[in-house]
Amino acid sequence: MKILYVVIPCYNEEEVLNETSKQLKEKMTTLIKSKKIAKESKVLFVNDGSKDKTWDIIEKLTKEDKLFAGVKLSRNKGHQNALLAGLMTAKEHADMAISMDADLQDDINVIDLMLDKYEDGYEIVYGVRGSRKKDSFFKRFTAQSFYKIMKALGVDIIYNHADCRLMSKRALECLNEFKEVNLFLRGIVPQIGLKNTIVYYDRNPRFAGKSKYPLKKMLSFAFDGITSFSIKPLSLILTLGVLILFISIIIMIYSLVVKILGNTVPGWAFITISIWFIGGLQMISIGIIGEYIGKIYSETKHRPRYLIEETIINN
Ligand code: UDP
Ligand code: MG
Repeated sequence: MKILYVVIPCYNEEEVLNETSKQLKEKMTTLIKSKKIAKESKVLFVNDGSKDKTWDIIEKLTKEDKLFAGVKLSRNKGHQNALLAGLMTAKEHADMAISMDADLQDDINVIDLMLDKYEDGYEIVYGVRGSRKKDSFFKRFTAQSFYKIMKALGVDIIYNHADCRLMSKRALECLNEFKEVNLFLRGIVPQIGLKNTIVYYDRNPRFAGKSKYPLKKMLSFAFDGITSFSIKPLSLILTLGVLILFISIIIMIYSLVVKILGNTVPGWAFITISIWFIGGLQMISIGIIGEYIGKIYSETKHRPRYLIEETIINN
């Protein structure tokens, strides 16, 4: 039987942890009893440098029940890093890991669906929010715009999939090959490949506590996602430069015509043409530098050039 670790990053979640652990315990006990997962399976809480009683609660839970385990980060490192810390710990002990948020906004029944897919041989199962009716209009709008902008910039991400997913041990080992410091898991995981699929669930409202993603963090998360995965903004500079140079030709013709017709003060045509032409030239130059920076950026990430799923050599 396979060992499952449910990995839960927690930042100042004292208000939800008791309820969350209760619900997960029920779920895990049922799964263990029905022999869907091994009895060594655990719920692993990662304390992301919380300033409240989060760690005390986690410690207490681990003492009461060996179903619960905890990892404490030395300080707040952000959701993505906390999640990675948990997944990398799970990799050592488990056959698969499911990541979820501490507030159980992701319906925990999704665990059953994911396990079924794992049984069918899938290595990565993405949890996708089927409906966001219970999210506020603002959250829904910003989140959906985010996925659309990412897609438009050529980043390979799964629409409406947050960080609720199952990964097999093999997938976690592949994830470990990505050494980048600017961690944006929703972008990295699709890069892994392997046999993957999607399951749908309903997203609930947060049952207690406040969102740990205020607008400022949300924007910086989105910006991180884009700048860690897309060099399109850099290429856009070059395109813009070419466009401006083209406009400068039109302006040149226009200025000369106006000058010849004699409706101008002396020097006007010269200055107008210069401004547009030099502007375009500068933009193109920056764009070319941008192309090189884009290359440097890709190189410095040291992403794995390939990941092997299976090798067959018969002698
Ligand atoms: N979280 C974290 N570190 C942070 C911010 C958030 O570990 O710096 C965790 C948080 O405890 C929760 C998850 O990330 O388990 C998602 O946060 P939240 O539910 O507040 O985000 P939302 O659902 O509002 O997008
Ligand atoms: Mg939440």
